[in-house]
Amino acid sequence: MLFDLSSRLAERRAADLHRQRPLLESPQGPLVRVDGEALLAFCSNDYLGLANHPQVIQAMADGARRWGVGGGASHLVIGHSTPHHELELALAEFCGRPRALLFSTGYMANLAAVTALVGQGDTVLQDRLNHASLLDAGLLSGARFARYLHNDADSLAARLGKASGNTLVVTDGVFSMDGDLADLPALCAAARAHGAWVMVDDAHGFGTLGATGGGIVEQFGLSLEDVPVLVGTLGKAFGTGGAFVAGSEELIETLIQFARPYIYTTSQSPALACATLASLRLLREEGWRREHLRVLIERFREGAQRIGLPLMDSPTPIQPLLVGSSGRALRLAQYLRQRGILVGAIRPPTVPQGTARLRVTLSAAHEEAQVERMLEALADGWAALGDDGDD
Ligand SMILES: *Cc1c(COP(=O)(O)O)cnc(C)c1O
Repeated sequence: MLFDLSSRLAERRAADLHRQRPLLESPQGPLVRVDGEALLAFCSNDYLGLANHPQVIQAMADGARRWGVGGGASHLVIGHSTPHHELELALAEFCGRPRALLFSTGYMANLAAVTALVGQGDTVLQDRLNHASLLDAGLLSGARFARYLHNDADSLAARLGKASGNTLVVTDGVFSMDGDLADLPALCAAARAHGAWVMVDDAHGFGTLGATGGGIVEQFGLSLEDVPVLVGTLGKAFGTGGAFVAGSEELIETLIQFARPYIYTTSQSPALACATLASLRLLREEGWRREHLRVLIERFREGAQRIGLPLMDSPTPIQPLLVGSSGRALRLAQYLRQRGILVGAIRPPTVPQGTARLRVTLSAAHEEAQVERMLEALADGWAALGDDGDD
């Protein structure tokens, strides 16, 4: 039968892979209301607690009053307004790069950058755990596409040896489902030795890593030559929405001329750009947010180790607990929810088979006592889960 959607959906349910959208009935924050229940949440990417910050809200409201709500058209027609332009200048300055280009989502920024830089006859090499948007971008580009072993510069070098044409090496900065950092010094050295360019998608590093929140390139002290293409998203630590690519004058001009996901879409709301200008200021000026987050991460890892939870090798606010089967991940998440705690169960195909996990994320908006409360519930939930077989 054609379009047998009901069988597809039934199979997904049977495999514990069915997805549900929790209905959020409150703003982002540690304490949320979901499907009628008050819960303590550890699953948002609002790492610095800026999504519901009064100054960011005020900037958006003022921006809407001054500039209206709609972007109105694409950037190349009449959608590129003063707040967009000011935000691009501020983001370029923040990244210490000549220029930055604003996008409506990180997904589109990744499609745009990869497809504008490589095509037929070229090569794109990606970490096998890269974000779905990067993998999709690689396929869409039409370039020869290969994946290298996770964070493995030798595996990358072997594939670089067989690459032809313009070669783009693409990696997450912080891996979104594992929380570990790309080994950029080694990856960049391998790429450079082969004349390849490196593109880093630092969706989770901006705002959380580096002395001033400049992300993984700041943390490792990497230059424009090391990482010619740098992507950041604005819906996570920035607490607003959208994304940017930062790089050389020529890179940005190339994207404006050739990147279809840039050219053929309406610009984001100018009011949102106003909000991001405010959140960028907070992100830079309020270093205490990163410091508090660091304390919470340490607190969580110490506590989890004490209980014997399966921590992963992550120094970031993404602290997944590797549970194994989808059924076990769902049961642990369900148990936590009964205790008033919301954590997402991440299952294939988002992560490889057999590596389902609870993706705990911490935010500067959390209090230490809230982390303790989660750890207590986790200890009980983990014990109750026991060794109940790998279904
Ligand atoms: C969230 C995310 C994206 C997508 O960004 P959006 O702005 O949400 O579309 C891209 N890359 C990585 C690594 C991400 O985690």
